[in-house]
Formats: sequence, structure tokens, C-alpha cells
Amino acid sequence: MRADPERLRFEITARDGAARAGRLHLGAGPVETPAFIPLATRGTVRSLTSSEVAELGYEMVLGNTFHLLLSPGPDRIAALGGLRRFMGWRGAIITDSGGFQVFSLAHGNVADEIKGRRRRSAGAGAVLEIGEDGVRFRSYVDGSERFLGPEDSMAIQAALGSDIALAFDECTPYHADRDYTARSVERTHRWLDRCLAWHERAGPRHQAVFGIVQGGVHEDLRRQSAERVSAAPVDGLAIGGTLGRDKDEMRGVVGMTVGQLDAGVPRHLLGIGEPDDLVEGIAVGVDLFDCAVPTRLARHAMALAPLPDARFRFDLRRAKFAGDQAPLVEGCPCATCGAHTRAYIHYLSGAEEMTGVRLLAVHNLAYLERLVHGAREAIRAGRFAGYRERVLGGAPPWRALTEYGR
Ligand SMILES: [Zn+2]
Repeated sequence: MRADPERLRFEITARDGAARAGRLHLGAGPVETPAFIPLATRGTVRSLTSSEVAELGYEMVLGNTFHLLLSPGPDRIAALGGLRRFMGWRGAIITDSGGFQVFSLAHGNVADEIKGRRRRSAGAGAVLEIGEDGVRFRSYVDGSERFLGPEDSMAIQAALGSDIALAFDECTPYHADRDYTARSVERTHRWLDRCLAWHERAGPRHQAVFGIVQGGVHEDLRRQSAERVSAAPVDGLAIGGTLGRDKDEMRGVVGMTVGQLDAGVPRHLLGIGEPDDLVEGIAVGVDLFDCAVPTRLARHAMALAPLPDARFRFDLRRAKFAGDQAPLVEGCPCATCGAHTRAYIHYLSGAEEMTGVRLLAVHNLAYLERLVHGAREAIRAGRFAGYRERVLGGAPPWRALTEYGR
């Protein structure tokens, strides 16, 4: 463990059971934890301006190395002053390594596998070769042949100028057998060493590096990976890869993995962010989450809501909302709910008006921000268990916060 204070300082200010609240000090400013990190995949949190994202209370966004490599390219972004300046964002930025996307091209993504969807066919966006040095693939943008390996990934993230870079890793598919996963984890560890060596030599001084713990659903592999990555000079630990077929299996894998991690550095659960997953992750001691859920749901006319029996969401396209004058969620403090009805958003969604997507993105992001904000307050007050129970039981996050003391 390195945890270099020049790059990153992590202060844990309160603990409640395994849950912790704290502050991440980065070059771009502080980030209160536990935090949810919206995805700015292609240099934008889809449909919103950077200032709108900041106004929602967010202090960090996640940029995608893979997509930004293909367009507009890291050299262009570096020449324009780095990703923060390019996208007009004043807060902190974490970049992923591109590993997840590039291996999704080869293996299909986890959701596709579990839902039985086909993998992407060969052609544009196809992987040509996976080797010890990295992955050769075809760009989905222009069909050109490209390469991404540990050193390339770190160089791109350096050019993007993020506050936190993630080490290059292989995200093993759910269908991979134990032997493949074991060999893949070993390679991911060798890639971590190469990423750190490159960063030590040529990386920006202010940039922190998180290592990624892999191992699929296998307890012994997760344990070995947690030990190996924790022993490396990293500034934080991320949990990646296949976490299981369903939420029960995922919680088992996450709980077991978090228990193996160094307690003094930030812990990031990659790609997870549904309301129940957030409170369950926070309960076992996760500090950071990122996920496409709030913006992806918005594009499908779905609103987050305190509905535990309906995966905490509902579909605005349903006919019953055509004349519904209520806000998306009664009492929601967001700008969308303050000014607009379900009927209006139902109509905009049916008409495929962009404003509908924007209004839902604002609400969904505000909902998750309130949820993690409430969790921080509850942890500081020593009442997180009650907060978690209320959120899981269907209390809206803003009420679970004010009512937890009663
Ligand atoms: Zn709202």
C-alpha cells in the first residue's frame, strides 16, 4: 500500500459497524464518502451539462478511457488542457482503464451473458487478439486496428489528466471456468505491476492509482487477489469483475472481498449503483460506487423511486400516467419534481422529446445523491442500520434521513 498523500489523502471521519464516512482529498478538491460517481462516458454525463451535475451535489465523475481513446483521442484532449477543462467540469475525475470495455468486446458483458443475449459479432468493435501485452481490437468508430495494454492505458489516463487512474485489468466473464479465471487474475496482477512501473516513471505526480481486485465468484481467488493488490503500492482498491448471477451471490462476493481489503484506503465497487446495492455496499464498508443506472434508466423513460418490489423504479410510458398530476416521487427535492408532473414526462417520453430524458436524468441522479448523502449523515449519527432498513423497506432517502432518529 502506498497511499501517497501528495496524490490522495483519505480521511475516515466516522464509523458505524463496518460502514464508514470520510473525505477523499484530491488535487481537484475533496470528495465526501460514501459517494456515488456518475458516468461521463464520452466526456459528458449524458444529456446534462457539467454545471448541472455539480449543482446536483456531485464532486466526482468517471471518464471512459476506451471511448475517449477512440474519439476524440487522448492527444486532442491533452492539447485542450485535459479532460476536466475539455468538459468544463470543476470537480474530481476518475478514469477507468478501458479493460472492462475492451474485454466486453471479447467476452460480451455480464448482463448479456446472464440474460442470454448473444455476444457482439465480429466486425467493427471486435477483439482480434488477447495476449500478455494487451488486447488488439478493431475500433467501432472507424474500423481501424487498435491496441490497448497496461502501459497504453496508463499513458492515456495520464493524458486525460484524471485525479484517479485505474490499473488495466481483465474483467473475466461469468461463463469463464475457474482455471481461466485463475490465469486471468495472475495476468491482471502482472499488469498491475506494469501499470505502477509506468506510472512511477512517467505518470503525473498528482494522479492516484487504484488497483483492481479480480477473481470472479471464487473465494480463494478473490482472497489471493485482495492480498496481492493490497500489497502493491496503490492509493486505493477497486473491486471489479463478475460478482455473481444475482444480488445474493453478488453481496456474498462483495462482503467477502471487502473483508480482505486494507481498511486505510478508499474502496471502490466498480459498476454497481442500484439503490439497494448502494446501501448494502455501504453497510459492508465500500466508499465509492459508479454506475450507468441513473442515466441509462432516464433514456428508457424510467424513474428511480422508493419501490423495493419493483427494483426501485417505474416506467413513465405506462398509460396510467397520462393524466397523473403528481411529481415523479412525492416529496422529492429535485428540480424536476419541484416543477413537473408525471403526466408531462409521460407525454415527453412518448413524443421522444429530449427534455424528457433530461428531466429524468436530473431526478435519477438527485435520487442517488440524496441516498448517499443520507447514508453519510446516518453513519455520522451512528444510525446507519436503521437508515439502511428504511431505504430497503421503501422509505424515500430524504425521509429515511429525517426519520431515522425517531
Ligand atoms: Zn425528483
